[in-house]
Amino acid sequence: METCSKCGKESTKTYDCEHTNEEEYCVECYTELHYYLTEKPREDIRKTEPIG
Ligand SMILES: [Zn+2]
Ligand SMILES: [Zn+2]
Repeated sequence: METCSKCGKESTKTYDCEHTNEEEYCVECYTELHYYLTEKPREDIRKTEPIG
């Protein structure tokens, strides 16, 4: 189990990328983060990320 750095919830699977400041986020927080990021065009968003 990993602990999400954002909401503190334990999750079997966490994700991290440059947008999370290399912290582990649960899928809900990770998706939400990228949802807001994709609202505006950003060059650093890559299609290789697991979600988004
Ligand atoms: Zn979370
Ligand atoms: Zn990202």
